[in-house]
Amino acid sequence: MTDDTDLNRAARALSRARAVLVLTGAGISAESGIPTFRGAGGLWEGFRAEELATPQAFAADPARVWRWYRWRQAQYGECEPNPGHAVIAQMEGAYERFLLATQNVDGLHHRAGNREMVEVHGTITRTRCSRCQRLSDWPEAIEEGEDPVPRCGSCEGLMRPHILWFGERYWTGTLERAYEFAHEADVCLVVGTSAQVWAPAQMALLAQQQGAFLIDVNPGATDISFSADVHLMGPAGELLPELWERAQRSPQEP
Ligand code: NAD
Ligand code: ZN
Repeated sequence: MTDDTDLNRAARALSRARAVLVLTGAGISAESGIPTFRGAGGLWEGFRAEELATPQAFAADPARVWRWYRWRQAQYGECEPNPGHAVIAQMEGAYERFLLATQNVDGLHHRAGNREMVEVHGTITRTRCSRCQRLSDWPEAIEEGEDPVPRCGSCEGLMRPHILWFGERYWTGTLERAYEFAHEADVCLVVGTSAQVWAPAQMALLAQQQGAFLIDVNPGATDISFSADVHLMGPAGELLPELWERAQRSPQEP
C-alpha cells in the first residue's frame, strides 16, 4: 500500500499544477463493477473480447457482435461512476487547462461530469454506420428474438458500435489532441491502465520528458509505474479522493 510521503509528493505536484493531463484505463471503472478485459469476468459465452471486437467478427456475424455489445451496454447501465471518476470530474473544474484521455468506452467519465475529454477508443453511448459513417445514439433495447442489428436512418447500412476495434486505426485527431496537451502538462496522472493496448505509456513518458510530474495510480506494477515519479499502489476509488483532498489542503506556493 502507498505510503504517506508518496501521497504528499503527488498532492504537492497537483496543488502547484496549472495544466493537468489525466489518462485512464479499465482499472478506473473496476470499482464500479465493470470487469477489466484481462481480469476475471472478461469472457462472454466462451468468447474473449479479442474475438468479438474486430471488423472480421462483425463481417462474419454482426448479430453476435451486437448481442455482446447490447449485453455490455446493459451491464454498464447498471453501474455508477465511483469516487475515482468523481475526483477526475472535479479536477476538470479546478484547473485552467485540463484534458482527460480515456481508453474506456463505458461512458462513466461523461456521466461523472467530464467534458474536456478524448475517448480514444470511442464510446458505447453511440453507434456509427458501417457504410456512410453517420453517428447516432445507442439504439433502444429489443425483445428476445428481434434482430439485434440496427440500420442506418439515411442509407440502411448496418450500424456498428462507435468503438475502435482490434486491428483498426485511431481516428484522426483523437490521439493528436492528447499528444499535443502532453507537451504542456505540469502533471500527468495515469489511472488504471496496464498500458498494453494503446500508447498511454508513450504519452505519459513524453509528458514526463517535457517536464510533467508523472503519477501512476494502479494496484499493480506496469511499464508506467516503473518510470513514474510516484506510483500510488492501490485502488483508484480510495486513493484518488485521498490524493485530491491532500492536494487541496497543500499550500499553493510556486
Ligand atoms: P487492462 O485490463 O489491460 O488493465 C487494467 C489495469 O487496471 C491493470 O493494470 C490493473 O492493475 C488496474 N486496476 C485494476 N483495478 C484497479 C483499481 N481499482 N484502481 C486502479 N487500477 C486498477 O485495461 P486497459 O489498459 O484499459 O486496456 C483494456 C482495453 O479494453 C482498453 O482498450 C479498453 O478500451 C477496453 N476496456 C474498456 C472497459 C471500460 O470501458 N470500462 C472495460 C474493459 C476493457
Ligand atoms: Zn448510413
